[in-house]
Amino acid sequence: MTPTPASLQEEAVRIWAGLDGKPLSPKDRMTIPLQEMPAQDPVVRAGNMLEVSLGYSAEQARIEASRCLQCKTSPCVSGCPVSIDIPRFLSLAAQGHFTDALGVIREASLLPAICGRVCPQESQCQAPCTLGKSLKNPLMAVAIGRVERYVADACSDTLPPPTVKAETGKKVGVIGSGPASIAAAADLRQQGHSVTMFEAFHKPGGVLVYGIPEFRLPKGIVDREVNTLRMMGVEIQTNFLVGRTRKLKDLIEKDGFDAVFVGTGAGLPKFMKIDGENLVGVFSANEYLTRCNLMKAYDDSRAATPIYRSQRVAVLGGGNVAMDAARSALRLGAEEVSIVYRRSLEEMPARQEEVHHAQEEGVRFLTLKNAQKILGDDQGRVKAVETLTYVLGDKDASGRRSPVPVVGSEALLEVDTVIVAIGNDSNPLLRQTTPELEVNRHGNFVVNEDGQTSMPRVWAGGDIVLGAATVILAMGQGRKAAAAIHRFLTAS
Ligand code: FAD
Repeated sequence: MTPTPASLQEEAVRIWAGLDGKPLSPKDRMTIPLQEMPAQDPVVRAGNMLEVSLGYSAEQARIEASRCLQCKTSPCVSGCPVSIDIPRFLSLAAQGHFTDALGVIREASLLPAICGRVCPQESQCQAPCTLGKSLKNPLMAVAIGRVERYVADACSDTLPPPTVKAETGKKVGVIGSGPASIAAAADLRQQGHSVTMFEAFHKPGGVLVYGIPEFRLPKGIVDREVNTLRMMGVEIQTNFLVGRTRKLKDLIEKDGFDAVFVGTGAGLPKFMKIDGENLVGVFSANEYLTRCNLMKAYDDSRAATPIYRSQRVAVLGGGNVAMDAARSALRLGAEEVSIVYRRSLEEMPARQEEVHHAQEEGVRFLTLKNAQKILGDDQGRVKAVETLTYVLGDKDASGRRSPVPVVGSEALLEVDTVIVAIGNDSNPLLRQTTPELEVNRHGNFVVNEDGQTSMPRVWAGGDIVLGAATVILAMGQGRKAAAAIHRFLTAS
């Protein structure tokens, strides 16, 4: 039976009473139980938009942080794309110095409440954890992200915004407002440069506000981080589409920007290129999630734009975006939601935790199946997906076993909605309107190791360079480019 939040807390209080004030040897630390994350009941949460994971209590955070062996090699730090001093923050958290612990994280990352929630820690900082290795079970690594989330939630309001140095008189434009741009803007503003952020949507935050659903990342948390930027003096202009409202070149040649950072992300959905994708009831995951998150389509009392009401939904794909779309569809009232994925559960790129949560909530997983056609009724609306069964063959270039179709295995899945979640490409607008920018064959900007593009005074980072990646990698690139821009501005 899944433990309730109250029983987890009772257990934590009991364990902490036995640990409090006791000097702990590495052997003692290895016997401290991993702290489970309390969560909303699956049946209840499938019908609401509130956050699924409820966060640690203070006792749980201290117990979990006490599991860190404080090993000499700290492999977790090299596993973190922004090199947070993890052992130091965990040691402070274990002693209950939560504000100081947050201060340590903030030295490297401006978005701990966000990263604590959405970073794939199991493949980054937690993957090489010495405790997980010693216990011969990677799932037993210190739950670094959960402790990070706790200290950020508990103390973010108590820390003042980062200090800003004296004005340098230099002007930097930041295009986009996702994690790459937030990180770049914060670092550049701290150095005393004037920073203006241009965002195409009416609300800043990038995928953090339009893509990742409320039940995984409450939007109040993103608003708080964006407000920190405003308090530091970053100007944010929304509804400003660079390439249309103003050309990138004009920002530099006519508007007096000394340098520009481009963090426009990968927002162009890929489609399957199969028959029936133009039927009513077919969405890209991007459109579906944007309507749901940014335009609040789940809230009938506030949504200016209603969303398509579905009974039976097929989500094509097996990544985090597919999980988000499937779980959102359930919350929007669908009776049956199926993930259609052409490999097996083991190959699925989505985080295990997201797959587990989706399964608990009742999402069906139709693995080793792929859509080969979408069928419509005489009104042009979706009525079914024709699927084909697959088996796994040899490993392909991605290192995963390749899916091989089984001839004659066609079957019909009756649905009224299809959500295509097979990935995104970079937005083509800037490259089309700025021929000076070199791009690779995927349309991603080509940059040097400092994030500088082929165009003078223009740097780039995040998904527009990496292709669809992760929040923390985007932040890391934003910071690296900001450091290079600062060097350029102080030398010129
Ligand atoms: P984005 O966050 O995409 O921000 C780009 C911004 O630029 C957007 O706001 C866009 O409107 C704006 N823009 C674009 N063109 C212009 C223009 N011409 N002028 C002005 N503004 C412009 N990563 C994780 O680490 N963990 C997760 O759990 C996770 N879940 C995800 C779920 C979904 C549904 C999606 C889509 C992605 C997810 N990711 C996750 C990936 C992660 O969100 C991205 O890697 C990250 O947001 C990239 O940051 P970015 O700053 O490069 O771009």
